[in-house]
Amino acid sequence: MAQVRLRFHGVLNDFITPVLRGVDIVHVFERKASVKDMIESFHVPHTEVEWISAQGIAIDFEHIVADREVIDIYPVASGGNFPDTVQLRPALALPLTFIVDSNLGRLARYMRLLGFDCLYSNRFDDGEVAEIARDQQRIILTRDRALLQRKMITHGYYLRSDAPKLQTIEVLRRYDLFSSIKPFVRCTHCNGILCEVAKQSIEHRLEPLTREYFDTFLMCETCHQIYWEGSHCIRMEHLVEVFRANISESEK
Ligand SMILES: [Zn+2]
Repeated sequence: MAQVRLRFHGVLNDFITPVLRGVDIVHVFERKASVKDMIESFHVPHTEVEWISAQGIAIDFEHIVADREVIDIYPVASGGNFPDTVQLRPALALPLTFIVDSNLGRLARYMRLLGFDCLYSNRFDDGEVAEIARDQQRIILTRDRALLQRKMITHGYYLRSDAPKLQTIEVLRRYDLFSSIKPFVRCTHCNGILCEVAKQSIEHRLEPLTREYFDTFLMCETCHQIYWEGSHCIRMEHLVEVFRANISESEK
């Protein structure tokens, strides 16, 4: 029998059973285990962890926990000033790209509205979402902890809210995306890129009033959906302003 003292910091406590939140957890174990497996045995997805130390010295996920160790586990974006000696996961190329799992279609549409590349299909199962995330280096956004705990996943975020607008604000904050918002560059239906299109080339697809009152149109390169500055565009602009208004105090 061996024992370890585990200290989960900050928002990592969201994941663990209430009686263990914010306290030193004395965990007794028999089998050799990596710190990653031990963290996940408390239902904390590894994607939520930014920095881990044993006796104050940085360790990686593969560290085999020894008897009497004191392990501190810190969340992503905790504001901690950690020495950059042990990186837990490879850095992602910019701009960041995303994939959401099934049931999160409205989050995907909001992310696209703000200009972010965000894949979604209600035909993807969890295995496909995980493989696409790995192969295309996409960040998974999900409410499914088990999906984030898959070995092949390196980058992901567990959405705290089940309301799509609040989820969008969570993602903007987590990945510091407020300054990268570019509305109306991406199709909210399919994630395709929007391009300006000459009115005469699409005139036959417009309703009479739209044809009469509008001259500037955008079309999705992939699904050919047409966008113009009509009433739905005003609603979308309002929504973009709502998201922008939620920039956190520290980012102002
Ligand atoms: Zn489209």
